[in-house]
Amino acid sequence: MVQTVYNFGGGAEHGDPRQKDKTVVGGKGANLAEMASIGLPVPPGFTITTEECRRFSASGVLHAELREAIAAALERVETSVGRRFGDTANPLLLSVRSGAAQSMPGMMDTVLNLGLNDDTVRGLAGASANERFAWDSYRRFIQMYGDVVMGVDHGCFEEALEIAKEERGFLNDTELDAGDLRALVDTYKDIVRREAGAPFPQDVHEQLAEAIAAVFRSWNSERARIYRRLNAIADDCGTAVNVQAMVFGNRGENSATGVVFTRDPATGERTAYGEWLPNAQGEDVVAGIRTPQYLTRRHRERAGAKAPSMEEALPRVHAELTRYLDLLERHYRDMQDVEFTVEEGDLYLLQTRSGKRTAAAALRMAVDMVAEGLINEEDAVLRVEPMALDQLLHPTLDPDASREVLCRGLPASPGAATGRIVLDAATAEAWAARGEHVLLCRTETSPEDIGGMHAARGILTTRGGMTSHAAVVARGMGRPCVCGASDVVIDMAARSVTIAGHRLAEGDAITIDGSSGEVMAGTVPTREPELTGAFGDLMLWADRHRRMRVRTNAETPDDCAAARRFGAEGVGLCRTEHMFFQPDRIRAVRRMILAGSAAERDAALDALLPAQRADFARIFEIMAGLPCTIRLLDPPLHEFLPHSDADFDDLLEPGGPSRETLMRRAAELREVNPMLGHRGCRLGITYPEIYAMQARAIFEAACDVADATGSAPVPELMIPLVATAAELAIVRDKVEAVAREVMAGRGRALPYSVGTMIELPRAALTADAIAAHADFFSFGTNDLTQTTLGISRDDAGSFIHTYLDQGIFTRDPFVGIDRDGVGRLIRMAAELGRGASATLKLGICGEHGGDPDSIAFCEEVGLDYVSASPYRVPIARLAAAQASLRARRSAGPAA
Ligand code: ADP
Ligand code: MG
Ligand code: MG
Repeated sequence: MVQTVYNFGGGAEHGDPRQKDKTVVGGKGANLAEMASIGLPVPPGFTITTEECRRFSASGVLHAELREAIAAALERVETSVGRRFGDTANPLLLSVRSGAAQSMPGMMDTVLNLGLNDDTVRGLAGASANERFAWDSYRRFIQMYGDVVMGVDHGCFEEALEIAKEERGFLNDTELDAGDLRALVDTYKDIVRREAGAPFPQDVHEQLAEAIAAVFRSWNSERARIYRRLNAIADDCGTAVNVQAMVFGNRGENSATGVVFTRDPATGERTAYGEWLPNAQGEDVVAGIRTPQYLTRRHRERAGAKAPSMEEALPRVHAELTRYLDLLERHYRDMQDVEFTVEEGDLYLLQTRSGKRTAAAALRMAVDMVAEGLINEEDAVLRVEPMALDQLLHPTLDPDASREVLCRGLPASPGAATGRIVLDAATAEAWAARGEHVLLCRTETSPEDIGGMHAARGILTTRGGMTSHAAVVARGMGRPCVCGASDVVIDMAARSVTIAGHRLAEGDAITIDGSSGEVMAGTVPTREPELTGAFGDLMLWADRHRRMRVRTNAETPDDCAAARRFGAEGVGLCRTEHMFFQPDRIRAVRRMILAGSAAERDAALDALLPAQRADFARIFEIMAGLPCTIRLLDPPLHEFLPHSDADFDDLLEPGGPSRETLMRRAAELREVNPMLGHRGCRLGITYPEIYAMQARAIFEAACDVADATGSAPVPELMIPLVATAAELAIVRDKVEAVAREVMAGRGRALPYSVGTMIELPRAALTADAIAAHADFFSFGTNDLTQTTLGISRDDAGSFIHTYLDQGIFTRDPFVGIDRDGVGRLIRMAAELGRGASATLKLGICGEHGGDPDSIAFCEEVGLDYVSASPYRVPIARLAAAQASLRARRSAGPAA
């Protein structure tokens, strides 16, 4: 029989390895047990496993054996605390907390102060000799339980609390006295009866069972599902439930609650960064209801804040906390995000987890921790999330640009963002969907806003601190965010905001700087980031540990130069068609396509040759001896056809074909399904002059650059859309004939290679035959995904979300490789190809080449390189290093 419930703290054994396994007891449960086992003050409790969540989801009930196990675990907690659950004289109260394997902050539910009813509340008041505290706890409990378990809108309770405060002329709920709170409890009970149609339950065991069930159910709440989709977390893991003895931060001025990071989560600076609130409980700090105070004096002074830091108000507790933070960091060898509560001077730790951080902080911490001897280089490489580097590659404000700073808030998530103000999540999503850059501007955000936050370029809130929902989520998503900008006043009715006296309408542009907290009028120009310091160190280590090479998909000199700055080791895909679409060339291209004879076609191609040669020469110069894979013309001829009357007029020449002739030929070339039509190597077969011209341009440019610089470029000519070995054999012959001719004429013998894209299922299936004519394969996974799934990427938008929602796809196959289908073809083609030709070089040039999970797949298959867009190159370098390290670690020391 597998154990379903594990006790932690209060002298419980923590020996079972399952209690360290986050997939069994969740991250929170595992860490609570871990903290208790290293002697930190954790209120005792127990964890119900995620297996039980899955079981509950299937059956909808807490089965009898589980109820028994819960009762036994609860008894152990009662014994260690010395109080009984439901006791009317001195009751034990509980928190019921969610906690999945992967942290999903704020996405699921928690109920605090469970076990209060009309009798036990009097017992609590008597035992604590603090009537105010008892009624405060009860009204909090009714609100949380009403919301989480009974489905009463929490707004109803908040409204009643506001009214109670207003009636007394108070600003803070801490000013309400026992009598006020007791009256509020009655109001809350009425709200529950009215809204839920049932009285607030008085049976504490019913409360416990219902709260556990509700936490299990919250795994499948809408917001939790959205969060999982955005973070690629599987839907079937389930959450554990932690039931824990309550400790009370709301017992008076010597009590408090807070959140602290062991290092600064924004910058990575080696100094604890936290927020706290005296006489408060639970989520008060993160909810943005009261403005939290700084934990340390240093941060308070730096911000010029008046409210005392915990370091000043409760120095002894602060010193104790500092000791624990140090211990936690050394134990976990990572920055921790810690939740704590102080009950009448006694400190308790309620949670620790590896802290969310900005990319800049992640980098700095990883590099610092290597210097401190906490971790080694490999750990550091594994520790930084490759996609997070994206944040560092985000623009910052151009320091020289003039700007009108309207106000300042907290610098909650770095990077500059500019966009049009939108006031709610739905508008953000709608406007972003039509291509607008938007900034989501809210009083505070809640988990329901998550879709809009994702759609926005940046987030601005008027309330809440650095650990508020908006701040935490924005940092996780890499969105610049300014929080707690209290000079921003939102008028939802008028759909406008007033920022320090300036009135702006929804849709007006503003700029925020999430690194400084500044909010600016209009659009302020931005600047590209520097790639030195910790970034440089980490990339150096990554490069040391990666097996695969990283190239770039680039076709302009600017892209090539950017990619080299980011560390690209070659071009993996240079598309040549954009060179054809340039306005000065399209005329020659059209004349070529509509030519009536080979002679007419040659004349048009002669006009294109010098331009192509110059393009390639620039790229070879920039890539300075690194390999450059150049794909010969690929798109359907259809795409180049003239459309308007003016297009046709432009092609008329004295002695040339008539307008009617041109229009007739164009009509003949129109296609029903161009993507599966006259394109790719089919062009090279039917119009060999086109590829011959391109090959000539490439080899002449290579000779020119070799002559000029003394270093030989390494062109790799890539033939697209090959389905059969015969196609490649024919095209290859032609290309090699041109190479021989050019090189003989120039008296040079430059190295070059000829290979193909594998982008049709037939090519993958017959890869052994194709390999006989190829020096390399490059997996064109965009088309290979389209042709394998029979889905047009451009048309997938209308149904892909339904497919993701229903779990038909776990990820968009155009973003992450479909391992089971497309991946299987790649694996097969790689094996067949290598079997036929041991020297065959293998790479990938689809969008997937910049996706960390797909890069891990490429490592598994043993590709030689990946190729990514320039800004993805650092991400690919890091992901490739991680893939190598993981492969080596899982192969074990023997390998
Ligand atoms: P989340 O996963 O959303 O952070 P938690 O389960 O950590 O939810 O609960 C939220 C907050 O509730 C905690 O930060 C803590 O302040 C409070 N809390 C949870 N358990 C207890 C407890 N046993 N005693 C006092 N406060 C608690
Ligand atoms: Mg919560
Ligand atoms: Mg928590």
